[in-house]
Order: sequence, then C-alpha cells, then structure tokens
Amino acid sequence: MTLVAILSGAGISTDSGIRDYRGPDGLWRRDPEAEKLVTYASYMADPDIRRRAWLMRRDAAVLAAEPNAAHRAVAELDRTPGTAVRVLTQNVDGLHQLAGLPGRKVLELHGTAREVVCTGCDARSPMAVALERVEAGEDDPACRECGGILKPATVMFGQALDPAVLGAAMEIARAAEVFVAVGSTLQVQPAASLAGIAAEHGARLIVVNAEPTPYDALAEEVVREPIGTALPALLKRLG
Ligand code: ZN
Repeated sequence: MTLVAILSGAGISTDSGIRDYRGPDGLWRRDPEAEKLVTYASYMADPDIRRRAWLMRRDAAVLAAEPNAAHRAVAELDRTPGTAVRVLTQNVDGLHQLAGLPGRKVLELHGTAREVVCTGCDARSPMAVALERVEAGEDDPACRECGGILKPATVMFGQALDPAVLGAAMEIARAAEVFVAVGSTLQVQPAASLAGIAAEHGARLIVVNAEPTPYDALAEEVVREPIGTALPALLKRLG
C-alpha cells in the first residue's frame, strides 16, 4: 500500500468559484475591515461585526460550491487498488468529501465552514440551518442549546489550530511515501512545516502551484500548469 498525502490549499478550489480569502494575498489580509469579521476577538466582542459576518457568509455561498476535476481526481486516486490517500487541507469548503473522499481521510486544518459551533457549549450544527435563520430575519442567530454566540467551525484568526488535527497531519506527513502539495503557497503554517516534515522523512515531494513556493528546490517535481488539468494527469500517473 502506497500512502499518498495530498496537502491542498486555496488553489484547488478556485475552479469551484471559491476565492482565496485567507492566503497571504487573500481578501481578508488586504482589507482590515474584512479581516475583523474573521478575527476571533473582534467577532466575540462586537455584535455589529457578527451581523456583518453572517451577511458575508450568506453572500459567499460556499455551501453552493461544487467539487471540480481536481477534487474528483483525488477521490478517484483513493479508489485505486494499492493506494491509500490522506488529504490535509487548508480549505474549509468540504469539497474533497463532496467529491467522494470519505470524511475520515480528510484532515481539515482550518476546520469547516459547513458547520457552526457554539462558543459557549461547543454544540455543533449545520451552517445551512444557521443561514436559514439569518434569511428568516435573525441577524445574529444564537445557540439554541444555551444562547451562546455561534461561529463557523473554522479556525478564525487569533484561534489556535486543533492540536489533535495538527498532530495527525504531522504523523501522515512523516509516514507518506508521496507528498503532493497542491494550490498552496506553502508560506503559512502549518502547511509549510508539513511539506518540510514529509521531505525530511523521505517522501517524494511534488508541488503543483501556479506560483513558486519555498519548497520547490526540495521537490522532485514542480508543476505550474492549471490545477484542474494538471492534478488529474499527475494523480493518474501516480495511481
Ligand atoms: Zn451553546
């Protein structure tokens, strides 16, 4: 069994119409007002920020996005005999799972935008239900269990990554025989260190990204072509 780890960043979801909000050049980093909507301290402190954040979530329509050829190719590789796939993703869109990859094979480093979590009691519920409440006129829907403040089950700026998820991701990076970094600038943690760990532990490192990354020199192969065509071709070859 060959363990193929796939680290995916914003670039894999661009073809699904999802913009890079979080990356170094992402919208949230360029616009201080937008950044507040996804920064934990300001979100918790200011009801007006929360009202704007709910409208942003409603308008971003992440829940309506569909997986693209690259997501499907990853799921397809996992169905290839002799190959085990694990995805470590910086994305919160859930598109790897929607493409057919079992959820237990996807580690969401930054959480998921498909659920909300209560900051009071940790109860989770679907984002779709919370957005329906917003549509129905609740401008800052509260937890139905305890009345606490709801937020997306994503890691906001100012929040720590889940240590259990990060630990599992590092273990996969150490064990992988092939490590494909796709659509990630590899400039932010933990993505950068995961690629480094994989290379140190002898994985064949393959980088698929439009722009150069700090790990290109360590990579066995660097692919600059568009992800939607390049990744399916590459994974077919690996399978
Ligand atoms: Zn609650």
